[in-house]
Amino acid sequence: MLLAGSDAGRNGGASLPWTAGAAVPTVVFVARIRGREGAPVTLAHFTAIFMGYADAAMPRKVEASRRLQKRAEQMIPGGVNSPVRAFHSVGGDPPFIVRGQGSHLWDADENKYIDYVGSWGPLILGHAAPGVPEAVSAAAKKGTSFGASTPAEADLAEIVISAFPHVEKVRFVSSGTEATMSAIRLARAYTKRKYIMKFEGCYHGHADALLVKAGSGVATLGIPGSAGVPEEFTSLTLALPFNDTDALEQAFKKFEHQIACVIVEPVVGNMGCVPPAPLYLDALREITLRGGALLIFDEVMTGFRLAFGGAQERYGILPDLTTFGKIIGGGLPVGAYGGPREIMNMVAPLGPVYQAGTLSGNPLAMAAGLATLRYLRSHKSTIYADLDKLSSELTEGVMAAARNAGVPICCNRVGSMFTWFFTPGPVTDWTSAAKCDTEAFGRFFRAMLDNSIYLPPSQFEAAFLSAAHTERDVEQTIAAARQAFATVGCGIGL
Ligand code: PMP
Repeated sequence: MLLAGSDAGRNGGASLPWTAGAAVPTVVFVARIRGREGAPVTLAHFTAIFMGYADAAMPRKVEASRRLQKRAEQMIPGGVNSPVRAFHSVGGDPPFIVRGQGSHLWDADENKYIDYVGSWGPLILGHAAPGVPEAVSAAAKKGTSFGASTPAEADLAEIVISAFPHVEKVRFVSSGTEATMSAIRLARAYTKRKYIMKFEGCYHGHADALLVKAGSGVATLGIPGSAGVPEEFTSLTLALPFNDTDALEQAFKKFEHQIACVIVEPVVGNMGCVPPAPLYLDALREITLRGGALLIFDEVMTGFRLAFGGAQERYGILPDLTTFGKIIGGGLPVGAYGGPREIMNMVAPLGPVYQAGTLSGNPLAMAAGLATLRYLRSHKSTIYADLDKLSSELTEGVMAAARNAGVPICCNRVGSMFTWFFTPGPVTDWTSAAKCDTEAFGRFFRAMLDNSIYLPPSQFEAAFLSAAHTERDVEQTIAAARQAFATVGCGIGL
């Protein structure tokens, strides 16, 4: 637990009455078994109980979630409003979530999970973090949307600008997709060039021009792009392998004076977590400068996650434009793009680049973002180091469990973003990520879920640790992984 506040409160009063490793009171133990009548109890469950992880021990119930999924499928494509949530690549029943508190989630069947998805990144402080719901509800009481400016917009802009030195002006939108789409439009207008460059396995939202060799759900579903996007719309998008400086040099030679911008996830999260090779971001900066193209860091995932000033602070590289999302909205829908005054002044109403939004700068979203960023700012001297330390304990503990079980996986981690790849690795780009045994990952994922650990339901998504996670969560997760590796033969080729 890295957050200030009461532990019991943050666990919704549901924390266990004993600590890991302590003797388990028999009466509680019996009550728990009776509480889940009908579910098969295996030797592994007893082992977990005696290790002090009673919540991890019981098979999960799925009846209510299954019923809700069936109902949703009648009305919503796949029953979901974002594809990966349907669990198609991992199998099993997606839990319908009814509550989140701190590092935990509860589903409609009353199963409790340790959450490593964190709403796909925004919840760096955990669910319902102290101050965030209060700020949202205080804002809501004053009215939910005005379609006119509110003071909180400049307050949030001020924090973003203070954290990202090259950002002098920022425009808020409602999603990461809007942020990247708008930044690219701006880069094309500013450079008066047409081509854009992205990297295989990077995902920048679902705008037409960016659905080329994209990561995230596109990679998860194993499709090259998307139906409904005419070739002509992507003919100006160049997709290169990530971490390959030579390919970059060659493309810049071939398309000399034609490339408007290069957009990159400085640490990729959308093919699983893939860090930049040493000096790769420096090369990107140097080549784009030389080629007269803008460098866009898509920090939708990494902004305020890898450091208060995002990946660019961590790696010491200044891009021309930065896109934001996730954490800046504190769990509500917010995106943003920003950069130097000279470029940002081209956006309407000051300039000719049109971009607008009915709910942009929404007061509830600004309130959640402000509460989150203010907390991060006042704890930045410790919070990122603490996240790093606990994430390292977690990833190394799970890797040790894999080694002991003879399961040849590899792990990439930067700060509190990480992925266990079901390949011996190393994973440095999309070609190496695609070698993963996704069936084995699916078995591991389902075993973890049955053991109360909620991981991203795709091999090609990063997992996240929050400031609400505790040493105990990490121990429980490592114990669950040990059991998953041992009992479900989830190793490659096993
Ligand atoms: N860029 C990156 C790096 C992302 O990870 C995502 C979403 N995962 C997006 C853009 C798109 O954001 P949104 O889903 O809010 O449209």
